[in-house]
Amino acid sequence: MAFEGLAERLQGTIQRIKGKGKVSEADVKEMMREVRFALIEADVNLKVVKEFVKKVSERAVGQDVMESLTPGQQVVKIVKDELTNLMGGEQSKIEFATKQPTVIMMVGLQGAGKTTTSGKLAGMLRKKHNRKPLLVAADVYRPAAVQQLETIGKQLSLPVFSKGTDLSPVEISRQAIEYAKAEHLDTVIIDTAGRLHVDENLMQELKDIRALKEPDEIFLVVDAMTGQDAVNVAQNFNEAIGITGVVLTKLDGDTRGGAALSIRSVTDKPIKFVGMGEKMDALEAFYPERMASRILG
Ligand code: GDP
Repeated sequence: MAFEGLAERLQGTIQRIKGKGKVSEADVKEMMREVRFALIEADVNLKVVKEFVKKVSERAVGQDVMESLTPGQQVVKIVKDELTNLMGGEQSKIEFATKQPTVIMMVGLQGAGKTTTSGKLAGMLRKKHNRKPLLVAADVYRPAAVQQLETIGKQLSLPVFSKGTDLSPVEISRQAIEYAKAEHLDTVIIDTAGRLHVDENLMQELKDIRALKEPDEIFLVVDAMTGQDAVNVAQNFNEAIGITGVVLTKLDGDTRGGAALSIRSVTDKPIKFVGMGEKMDALEAFYPERMASRILG
């Protein structure tokens, strides 16, 4: 299960301070030493850990906490609040265009789960938002990505715009947007090409697709299992093309949690959805508060 180690460590620490009738600065210090250790072990970005510990410590030794009737519980609440803030606070919504169609670009490195997530997202938008999605097979470099998206489209009974692998991703996307307009499909989800590494060509191609019609969302798909690498990838993509949100996949695996806890703080972009499995319905909106509760028990 995801966050298992982190949850176990934090919950132990929290239990110890929760019952205390009095909390001293030394108690807070000791607790924060353990929290820091737990976060580092969970592969959370070091700068993020430092800031988090500082914020919680400052609030926890405040007079109102120390003098309250239940200081232990107050401290626990502060940890939970700050953990929620760290992951973005409020759950963020998806943006739809006022002028049709809405364009959503799915970007990311190969293997992150971009094609799968494109399908999941299309299914979710149809079901929950009553949208009429068009899936666009613009990942022309990864072998079988186009067929994979076609298969997903069949499975979900959703249209897939696909032109094989001869045309450029930019040209495919351009035609797809025209097609969506003609067919009154209101949401174009472009499964862009991934690469093994972040590189100039990839970014240029994404910029060219972005220039066709300003996308309403640019979702970066990253694999939670890759920890700090996922955070670096998010930073790179954000600096190069400007993402609007992150989809964190494979959270059903036993990820330590570093990516989930660091991405917002490092990139200032929210995690919007999480992938919870390979099946087409395994995509969930990301709720920072629920995630914090899950971690803290
Ligand atoms: P792409 O190269 O980024 O398009 O990656 P794919 O969509 O082909 O996904 C790569 C692999 O990850 C596939 O085997 C997917 O089934 C799997 N995958 C994608 N998302 C999830 C997820 O949320 N959980 C799990 N367990 N597997 C996932």
